Amino acid sequence: MDLAPAPVLGNSFARDVPEMALPWQADDAPEPRLLALNEPLAAELGLDAAALRSPGGLRLLVGTAVPDGATPVAQAYAGHQFGGFVPRLGDGRALLLGEVADADGRLRDLALKGSGRTPFARGGDGLAAVGPMLREYVISEAMHALGIPTTRSLSVVATGRPVRRETLLPGAVLARVASSHLRVGSFQYARATGDADLLRRLADHAITRHHPAAADAERPALALYEAVVAAQASLVARWMLVGFVHGVMNTDNMTISGETIDYGPCAFMDAYDPATVYSSIDTGGRYAYGNQPVVAQWDLARLAEALLPLLHEDEEQAVPLAVEALGAFAPQYEAAWTAGMRAKLGLPDDVDDAAVRALAEQLLALLHSGHVDLTSAFRLLGGAARDDAEPVRRLVLDLAAFDDWLARWRALGPDPGLMDRVNPVYVPRNHLVEEALEAATDGDLAPFDRLLDAVTSPYVVRPGLERYAAPAPQDFGVYRTFCGT
Ligand code: AMP
Ligand code: MG
Repeated sequence: MDLAPAPVLGNSFARDVPEMALPWQADDAPEPRLLALNEPLAAELGLDAAALRSPGGLRLLVGTAVPDGATPVAQAYAGHQFGGFVPRLGDGRALLLGEVADADGRLRDLALKGSGRTPFARGGDGLAAVGPMLREYVISEAMHALGIPTTRSLSVVATGRPVRRETLLPGAVLARVASSHLRVGSFQYARATGDADLLRRLADHAITRHHPAAADAERPALALYEAVVAAQASLVARWMLVGFVHGVMNTDNMTISGETIDYGPCAFMDAYDPATVYSSIDTGGRYAYGNQPVVAQWDLARLAEALLPLLHEDEEQAVPLAVEALGAFAPQYEAAWTAGMRAKLGLPDDVDDAAVRALAEQLLALLHSGHVDLTSAFRLLGGAARDDAEPVRRLVLDLAAFDDWLARWRALGPDPGLMDRVNPVYVPRNHLVEEALEAATDGDLAPFDRLLDAVTSPYVVRPGLERYAAPAPQDFGVYRTFCGT
């Protein structure tokens, strides 16, 4: 390939668990055209942005030319999808190109999505359309800018190959960067094979990569499990604090690293309502906003089941160890959520946790009953802490109850500067995302670029970006998102 210097792509996953790494090639992309390139992320990975823009760079980003010695693989995994176990899912339209050492010396996966059918594709075409890949790009980068652990998006390249969905759409490949693609479903796959050695090698690989301190613990697999529980408790609390709805929290979409992964039917909530569901296939509301902490625990229980043989030689003793470790989720989640709400409400340390939680819950109840936009409400509260309560008062319905809440909150001395550092002005609002993706699908990337610019610097108000800070227009209607698109 003509990309100089060519990145060195490691293959520790394929080496450690070859049974779960199927060497595979990306499909040809007849006319690769760069739609988005994340230059700061490229720099973190030691990749030269100008080289990535070159024809050789684009071939790397769609997987048709990989550096010498690299072996792209489709990863095997299992998963509970909407509660039902599927023993063999795997990368149906994705490839792990390899692992790159970043500027801090950490290994990061470089992977593709939409690069063609693999042996795991089942009925799927292995492809992805421009809209959903740009959607993952903008939402994952917004999450990163909000400080929420997530896989990153390096690029989206249009392939020049049409994709058949309800209509013919332009195809694209997303290049994704992750601290790994190990999922709860990866462990379920290893466990379901019945190969105890494979399960152990997978756990050792995960420990080395994500939770190296666990290697020195008396029970390394238990320490790994505890670390995953803690990482997910913190992650889901972060989602809840910004109103993020993942939409498809199947066990194959939950990472071991604690990064958010697989941006399919996800969306940021507009008006606050715990019952919010966007995904068209989530008819039962299993993955509704308010269910996310409970579902995360359910998924983590499946991880415990998969790890059971490694937790203790005697399964009867392994179960209580797992139960105890999973029991840490609720208090860890609550602590992370309370700390987050303390900051969002600008409350000083001397206000006790119970008071923070009570105030936050009362506020959320008011937002719920008044159908108030979550992002705007918290951001405008910063003004109320500066004696300008009118903008936030204009959002609420029950003014008597809200004024009472404001008086009690203000008496605690909220710090507006702190609030402005944690309450975003710009999140990828659904109406803006749809508008940007529709234009991009028709060949106009300007709205996408403007939206990306707004949401990747989310905390500082910028003149000219007023419409990116405003709630959805009344006529936007009921928002629906689609999976596997
Ligand atoms: P997801 O809903 O994106 O988490 O995907 C669930 C499973 O379906 C994974 O095994 C994917 O690789 C697979 N999948 C989703 N879309 C496609 C597609 N268009 N072609 C092949 N496999 C797919
Ligand atoms: Mg997935």
